Amino acid sequence: MSDELTVKFWGVRGSYPAPGAGTVKYGGNTACVEIHAGERTIVLDAGTGIIPLGHALAQTKRTNKIMLLFSHLHHDHIQGFPFFVPAYLPNAKLHIFGPDGTHESLKNVLEHNQSSETFPVSLGEMASSKDIQSVRESQVIVWDETGIWVTESTVGLRDDSLVIRIHKSYAHPGGVYAYRITWRGQSVVYATDTEGYVGTDKRLVAFAKEADVLIHDAQYLDEHYWGGLAGLPTTQGYGHSTVTMACEVAASARVGQLILFHHDPSYSDALIMDMEASAKAKFGETQAAYEGLEIPLRNESKMTSILQQGTGIARDVKYAQHD
Ligand SMILES: [Zn+2]
Ligand SMILES: [Zn+2]
Repeated sequence: MSDELTVKFWGVRGSYPAPGAGTVKYGGNTACVEIHAGERTIVLDAGTGIIPLGHALAQTKRTNKIMLLFSHLHHDHIQGFPFFVPAYLPNAKLHIFGPDGTHESLKNVLEHNQSSETFPVSLGEMASSKDIQSVRESQVIVWDETGIWVTESTVGLRDDSLVIRIHKSYAHPGGVYAYRITWRGQSVVYATDTEGYVGTDKRLVAFAKEADVLIHDAQYLDEHYWGGLAGLPTTQGYGHSTVTMACEVAASARVGQLILFHHDPSYSDALIMDMEASAKAKFGETQAAYEGLEIPLRNESKMTSILQQGTGIARDVKYAQHD
């Protein structure tokens, strides 16, 4: 089995798809990230980015066992699922986890997403076998040689176990889950659709502590958030972060690298490039997610990451000077 853990971005846009000449560089598909750990495939969210991912998985016949984790059930995180090719393959097995909706179970929300009023194929008619399970913050999802299962404790797990921890955040309307995926000492934290707090989101900082990669919501320019852009209302309370908020979490948690995610659909490539540059001035190891971005993490990159974490204090000081 390969030692490599790879993060690949298939959809990086927030709210709604944004195709067009102005979004070619970063891409217009909504949220979807693939994690590859050895032979295991984990998919984070099912925005429209899951559609090209589904074709790629089907072409390479990597469909017999796929884990899909939903951060929450807003449109831009589920709208690609009805077009996810592996869900139609009789030999595919999907293990689907996420939070319940505010009034309905996870399974019911997915069923209603494909009700006959709005879509021609029901969830039950899709030929794959699907294990849909809502999970709680106290639970841990494990994928080891024996299979995929949910537990309340990580005591006694095998060394090769892939472990997924859950952080329930209240910083988004209806709540949202962040996930921390750990395998062979390497960790990736996925924290989309979250708004920063005054003094930083301390619970999220603790959850993301020293992760190798932090994927964090960075939807807005500071001026947009505060209502300083002509013709646009303030976005305070919408449940999304500014680049500054994302950098604050990354610096406080001393992560190896920060990936800006959930770009505003009205923002052009040029604007996101500017936001990326301003973020780098605050937290050096930062880049804006784009469709096709791949981040391989190997044992040797773990060493690099540990060295980077050693300079985390210096980065904190630098960051404080910029604030
Ligand atoms: Zn979203
Ligand atoms: Zn949302």
